[in-house]
Amino acid sequence: MVDVVTTRPPLGCTAVMLGLFRAALQEHQLPVTQQREAIARILFESGEHLSADEVSARLADVGHQVGKATVYRTLSLLVRVGLATEHDFDEGFKRFETRIGPAHHDHLICTSRGSVAEFQREDLDRLQAEIASHAGFHVLTRQLKLYGLCAECDAETGDALRKVV
Ligand SMILES: [Zn+2]
Ligand SMILES: [Zn+2]
Repeated sequence: MVDVVTTRPPLGCTAVMLGLFRAALQEHQLPVTQQREAIARILFESGEHLSADEVSARLADVGHQVGKATVYRTLSLLVRVGLATEHDFDEGFKRFETRIGPAHHDHLICTSRGSVAEFQREDLDRLQAEIASHAGFHVLTRQLKLYGLCAECDAETGDALRKVV
């Protein structure tokens, strides 16, 4: 049984993250614009793994018309300054999530609806350290992605699928 965790940021976290973003923009001599802040706010508040298109749609929902290129550039900027992580779940586009703290987590990706769940296991971290140490390998990053059907989709289509396989 896998404990599926969520890394949804704690309340009040958005203000802190926005403060860090503003400081990073100033440090890179980039203007702090309403558009950039609105894009960052959507990502920080969601706690989800959002594509640039999803961020655009949510911006439109709250009355911001922002070009897709601006959305994508701002999300990439958040990654560059260490406030977001970029994921490629082999969907043909990237997804972004807020980066809070150094804790590593891995992903369960539903190939039917594209939903992403997260899990964190210390025993996996220990195993990884053991493997790396045996190989004399210095690990910089890990990407563990489990592809399949989430419980809901599995209940809907899994039976049919299993009959075929
Ligand atoms: Zn994640
Ligand atoms: Zn699913």
